[in-house]
Amino acid sequence: MPGDKRGRQKMIPAMREYRASQTYGTQVNPATNQTTFHTGIDLVKPSYADIAAFAQGVVVFASYGQTGTGVGGYGNTVILRDRHDYLHMYAHLTDYRVKVGDQVLAGSVVGREGMTGQATGQHLHYEVRRDGPSFGYGLHTDPVLYMDQYFTTELKDPAHACGISYDGMLLPFIGGIVEGKSFLPVRALAEAVGKGAQVEWNNVIRLAGINGTELLSTFLLDAKAYAWSRELARALGLDIRWDDAAKVVQLTMAP
Ligand SMILES: [Zn+2]
Repeated sequence: MPGDKRGRQKMIPAMREYRASQTYGTQVNPATNQTTFHTGIDLVKPSYADIAAFAQGVVVFASYGQTGTGVGGYGNTVILRDRHDYLHMYAHLTDYRVKVGDQVLAGSVVGREGMTGQATGQHLHYEVRRDGPSFGYGLHTDPVLYMDQYFTTELKDPAHACGISYDGMLLPFIGGIVEGKSFLPVRALAEAVGKGAQVEWNNVIRLAGINGTELLSTFLLDAKAYAWSRELARALGLDIRWDDAAKVVQLTMAP
C-alpha cells in the first residue's frame, strides 16, 4: 500500500499497538483494477481485544449501525465527539461498553474488537468525521493525520506544559500532558540525567531508544522525539512520581 509508510510514521503511540491492514484513501483492487475509497483505517489486534478510545470525548452513538443512518454496514459502532467537534467512530465491534452521554477518556475501553456489519475478519474500522447530519456521513478525514495533529496541538499547548525535576532540582526544559499522560523530550532528559545513556533513533520504525531499549511511546514534535514519562523513566532506571499540585514530573535515582 503506497500510503502505508507515511501513515505509519505519523501514528500516535496508541495506534501503533495495532497492525494496520488497510489505510485511509483510494484503494485499487489488483484483480479488477477498480478503485474504491476507504473512509477510515483498519486496525488489527488479537480477536476480541479491548478497543480503547484514541481521544477523549462524549458518546453520541453506541448501537448497531442501521442502513440510512450514516453508520449503516458498520455493525456495532461507538462514536465519540471530541472537543474540536470531530467524531471518532469505532466500528465492527463485538460489543460496546459505553452509552450515549458518557464522557470517555483516551485509553478507556469502548468495546471489543469484532466483525459485526460488513466485515470479513475481526478488525477495528476507525474513522474520523467532521460533525454533521447523519453523524458526519461523507465528511471523513485521514484519521492518522488528524490524530497526529490533535496530539501535536495538545503537546504544544502551554496550558498542558509540565515541569521536570531530578533529585529535587527543576530541569531547564519542559514536557507536556497529552490526554492524561506526560510526554518528555527524550534527548534533553537523557543528556541531563542519563549518566552517559545512549540515545538512538530508528528511522525505519520511527522510534527513539535508550541504551538499546526502544521507546514504543515515541512521538515526534517538530523533529524532536518525546516519549511517555513512565516508559522513559524505566529505560533510564529512574523512579518517577507526579506532583499534581505543581504539575511536575519528579524523577529520582532508583534505590
Ligand atoms: Zn475499514
